[in-house]
Amino acid sequence: MSQQHLPQIPSELLPSDGRFGAGPSKVRPESVDMIVAHSKDILGTSHRQKPVKDLVGAVQRNLAELLGLPDDYRIVLGNGGATAFWDAATFSLVEQRALHLVYGEFGRKFADATLAAPFLEESVIIEAEVGSAPEPVASPLADLIAFPHNETSTGVMVDPRRPDNSQDSLMVIDGTSAAGGIDFDISQTDVYYLSAQKGLGADGGLWLASFSPAAIERVERITQNERWIPAFLSLKLAIDNSAESQSYNTPALATLLMIEAQLSWMLSIGGLAACAARSARSAEIIYRWAEQHPLAAPFVEDPLLRSPVVATIDFDHQVDAERLAALLRANGIVDVEPYRKLGRNQLRISLFPAIDPDDVEALTESIDWLLENGELIR
Ligand SMILES: *Cc1c(COP(=O)(O)O)cnc(C)c1O
Repeated sequence: MSQQHLPQIPSELLPSDGRFGAGPSKVRPESVDMIVAHSKDILGTSHRQKPVKDLVGAVQRNLAELLGLPDDYRIVLGNGGATAFWDAATFSLVEQRALHLVYGEFGRKFADATLAAPFLEESVIIEAEVGSAPEPVASPLADLIAFPHNETSTGVMVDPRRPDNSQDSLMVIDGTSAAGGIDFDISQTDVYYLSAQKGLGADGGLWLASFSPAAIERVERITQNERWIPAFLSLKLAIDNSAESQSYNTPALATLLMIEAQLSWMLSIGGLAACAARSARSAEIIYRWAEQHPLAAPFVEDPLLRSPVVATIDFDHQVDAERLAALLRANGIVDVEPYRKLGRNQLRISLFPAIDPDDVEALTESIDWLLENGELIR
């Protein structure tokens, strides 16, 4: 796109911050300030000494408070992000067989991990069309039930609730993009895991997870059995290290500082309920705009499944949504392209707590302006 034909959105319509990506997502300047503030007493110091262990301890405590963690649950952390956690869970949490609800790419990736494990029975997969979701169910065959709280690839949310007859099945929920932006009852889960570059507005590379006593007991039992578990993926080692506010190997200290800054901010504005309300306000703005627009519509038809943290908006076939995303990008509004494998005429817009609802409003105005002036109608 050459500079001179570039339609320039009037500056008074533009959002104050143009980052609407679903991960990495907007990092608040205060989180970066936190890194600078600790450039000499945390950065470049040992993760086995008190200053960093205190920081990890604060992250554990504040995440527990944000999630409303029951007293006997534990916050565990390790390196490698949610993707590494899928492999770790495959080794350390599935006893014989997993059951996965699949309604998009992220749920499928965990399912693929347990399906490929030669030491497990074939996973039960319950699938729904993208844009919808299956009801959570249990199976007497499965000892673990897994699904994403928010399916980031499609913008579908499923409330984590123990299904009927789930008895000894562990509820292992992917909270990567939901955490911090959707209120829920964590006691309905045994493991709730996340990466820090989405709702926590930090950076990638770490995973954090809450573990119920049943989940810890499961890990202990599997670890005592014959199964070979690579040390890096051993949840037993992660649990033991986390009990000392450490990780098995070296974590990114700057990321921990950003997580702590974001958690402190989230608690200061009123915790999970307030953060969820902020995302819900952004969601109301974007979905109402799409519903009322003759050329746009929410991709997720059922309002109960529509995510309050990642909105997927379909455009009429006359609109070139790819060009729309490119023009937005050229105007400093970035990462609203749809999930690459979904292949729809769509924008995906994140509504994490860090994102100002006024900026979501400004985004709709910027899109309206481009639909008028951007030669987007084919
Ligand atoms: C982004 C995402 C992941 C993968 O996170 P990584 O940190 O890249 O491993 C997993 N699950 C969900 C729901 C996600 O949104």
